[in-house]
Amino acid sequence: MTCVFCELVQKRANALYEDDKVFVMLSPEPFVQGHVIVLPKHHSPILETVPDAVVADMFKAANKVSTVLFESVGAQGTNVLIQNGPPAGQQHNHAMLHVVPRFENDKLQLGWNPKPASDEDLAKAELLIKEQSKSVGVFEKEKPKPVEQEKPKEIKDDWRVKHLRRIP
Ligand SMILES: [Zn+2]
Repeated sequence: MTCVFCELVQKRANALYEDDKVFVMLSPEPFVQGHVIVLPKHHSPILETVPDAVVADMFKAANKVSTVLFESVGAQGTNVLIQNGPPAGQQHNHAMLHVVPRFENDKLQLGWNPKPASDEDLAKAELLIKEQSKSVGVFEKEKPKPVEQEKPKEIKDDWRVKHLRRIP
């Protein structure tokens, strides 16, 4: 099965930034000009399948992208958005994070219409969510980076050594 976004990552299409975990590109389906997406490089169909360390780097990259949009196209705000799962509007089988530049009175409709709920339903949901929230702080441990062996210091041009060498 091929994934459109894995292919785009491979082609480095519309690339703005990449490292070993994260790929940042101008959206091939922009919601508005300047719409940027941040993808895990490794194919991950939904956010839950993205390793914690990569999620962290995606958010860090998105935060930098916001600054880029402020500085480059004069955005006055950004929406940082994840459509996690089809009911949330996810359209592609590859997790991604959207950074959408916003301007005063830009009339973009991202839709945030609160849905009323009864006190009973709210209390029930609160109970269920609180119970499950115990797992929120359980993060995968990142593998420690291989420690680079410290190179011996180059001392041949050190005047102190030259001085020493002159001593018979
Ligand atoms: Zn993919």
